[in-house]
Amino acid sequence: MSLKGKSALVTGSTSGIGQAIAEAFAAAGCNVMLNGFGDAAAIETLRAGLAKKCGVKVEYDGADMSKPAEIAALVAKTNAAFGGVDILVNNAGIQYVAPIEQFPAERWDAIIAINLSATFHAIHAALPLMKAAKWGRIINIASTHGLVASAQKVAYVAAKHGIVGLTKVVGMECADTGVTCNAICPGWVMTPLVQKQIEARAKEQGIPVEQARRNLLAEKQPQLQFTTTEQIAGLALFLASDTASNMQGTQLVSDGGWTAQ
Ligand code: NAD
Repeated sequence: MSLKGKSALVTGSTSGIGQAIAEAFAAAGCNVMLNGFGDAAAIETLRAGLAKKCGVKVEYDGADMSKPAEIAALVAKTNAAFGGVDILVNNAGIQYVAPIEQFPAERWDAIIAINLSATFHAIHAALPLMKAAKWGRIINIASTHGLVASAQKVAYVAAKHGIVGLTKVVGMECADTGVTCNAICPGWVMTPLVQKQIEARAKEQGIPVEQARRNLLAEKQPQLQFTTTEQIAGLALFLASDTASNMQGTQLVSDGGWTAQ
C-alpha cells in the first residue's frame, strides 16, 4: 500500500513497536517524524538509514511525552517539516510492576502522563490540522490491558483503559470529518519493555530467563507466541489505509487468544 505524500508522527519510535511502525510507514512512502529516547548516534543512524532506504524525509525530535509543552512543539515541528500531520501514532509508553500498596506515587504519575495524557495532548494539537486537511488517521497503541486487567499493573491498566475510552470519544467527535481515530491492542510483543519484565520475573523466581519467557506467554496467551512488532506495524498500516476509512473509535486486537478466554 502507498502512503506517498503523507506524513506521520510516531511517538516513542526509537525502539520496539514504534520503530517498526515508523519503518513500515517510511517503506510505504510516508515522511516520518521519529521521537523517543536513546543513544544519539544510534537514533541518527536509524533516521538517516530510513531516509536513504525509503527515499522519504525522516526527522527526529526528542520531546519528552510527559511534558505537554514539548508535545505541542513536536506536533508544530512535524507540521513545519512536512506541511501537515496526516497520521499520528500515539505509541510512547512505559511500565512499572508492583502491588498498589507498594506502587510509588511518582511511577503512577509518570505512567498516566506518558501512557495516557500524552495522547490527549498530541491529539489536541494535531486534530485541528487534520480536520483542516479533511483527512487524518489517529492510531493509539493501547494494549490487551486496555480491555482486561493483570495484578500489579494498576497505573498501566488504568492508562490503557483510558486510551480505549479516549479513542471512542475522539472517534465520535471525528465522525464525517475524514479523520479516524482507532486503537490497537497488542498482547505480548517481544520488545525491551517486555524483556525487562521477563528478566525481573526470572530473578524474582530464581528460574532461567527462557523459562520465565515461556511462563509469561503460557499465563495469558493460548497461542504461546509473541505478536511481532512487524505484525503491529501491519495493523497500523491497515488503519491508515482506505480499507479502514469506516473504522471509527474501535480496537484492533492481536493477542494470541488472551482476551478470548
Ligand atoms: P519500548 O520500551 O521498546 O519502546 C518505548 C518507546 O517509548 C521508546 O522509543 C522510548 O524511548 C519511548 N519513550 C518512553 N518514555 C518516553 C517519553 N517520556 N517521551 C518520549 N518517548 C518516550 O516499548 P514497546 O513494547 O515498543 O511499547 C510501545 C507501546 O506499545 C507502549 O505504549 C506499550 O504500552 C505498548 N504495548 C506494548 C506491548 C508489548 O508487549 N511490548 C503490548 C501492548 C502494548
